[in-house]
Amino acid sequence: MPVSTAVSPWQEELRCAIRDAATLCDRLNIAPPTAGQGQRQFPVFVTESYLARMRPGDPDDPLLRQVFPDLREDASQPPRYGRDPTGDLAARRLPGVLQKYAGRALLITTGSCGIHCRYCFRRHYPYSESPRTLPQWEPALKQIAASPSISEVLLSGGDPWMLVDRRLEELITALESIPQLRRLRVHTRMPIVVPQRVTDGLLAPLRSSRLACYIVVHANHARELNGEVAGALAKIRAADLPLLNQAVLLRGVNDTYAAQRELCERLLDLRVLPYYLHQLDPVSGAAHFETPPELGPQLIAALRASLPGYGVPRLVREDPGATSKTLLA
Ligand SMILES: *Cc1c(COP(=O)(O)O)cnc(C)c1O
Ligand code: SF4
Repeated sequence: MPVSTAVSPWQEELRCAIRDAATLCDRLNIAPPTAGQGQRQFPVFVTESYLARMRPGDPDDPLLRQVFPDLREDASQPPRYGRDPTGDLAARRLPGVLQKYAGRALLITTGSCGIHCRYCFRRHYPYSESPRTLPQWEPALKQIAASPSISEVLLSGGDPWMLVDRRLEELITALESIPQLRRLRVHTRMPIVVPQRVTDGLLAPLRSSRLACYIVVHANHARELNGEVAGALAKIRAADLPLLNQAVLLRGVNDTYAAQRELCERLLDLRVLPYYLHQLDPVSGAAHFETPPELGPQLIAALRASLPGYGVPRLVREDPGATSKTLLA
């Protein structure tokens, strides 16, 4: 965090974030359940903005569940659960660059996020090796430039919108100078968890880019999408940036028809297209979020019977080594 320049509201929001389970319970007025050891390696991190959307007194709140270090994280995990569930390590081309699919390269721009989601598939990723400054990105950018088949770059992480505007702008400018690139995609949960992050300075380089820029946000529950978030999303849209959402199917969070339906309806109200509903990646520590295999397809069938076609996400799973996400419904 820069000390020399004025701290912006979104940085202040991050600075004040809640970082332990006891404070979280205290603030929500719930008897503190025993928190797991999982929080040692992957600490609690929740902003005040996100906390304000939780229901006080409800230990089963779907937003709280996403961030609370459940004791079950420490329980022995089923055999297929591991530290690299999506084959990220095998897909590393250079430090900070993953390529799994034709035409698309993904940049791990930072390891930081505006929230710590307990089900995160990259909760064990070796972020420290990723480039930080533009000179450090140079080899990766050269390699992308030398790959004529790559037409789209995804900024991922961590959360790319944790970077300050100047870092993002220099990275975008460098990508724009690679002639064969046509699209830039930003995968971010910041508009949902730190809506203050969506500023004119953040959006300006995307709005004016020669690249077609798409923003993919990550909301799992309709209650995440309050008025403050709606305002942030409206700003993104007003900058001519199309908005998509990806969600993860999570037991105890959004594993009912009512929850999925309301999420899709709310996203459509806010002009965000539901893109993917991901099956949980089997990352160790997250087995308590797993849903029965038949549930996802059943939910999608029920959504398809009640929503417009464009309002139904694709149910997908990420299989290591596959040439695309695996479409399940
Ligand atoms: C998920 C993913 C993408 C994007 O896949 P789409 O189906 O185009 O959304 C690209 N690269 C990597 C490494 C991914 O994991
Ligand atoms: S915002 Fe995304 S990358 Fe960050 S902890 Fe949550 S799921 Fe993981």
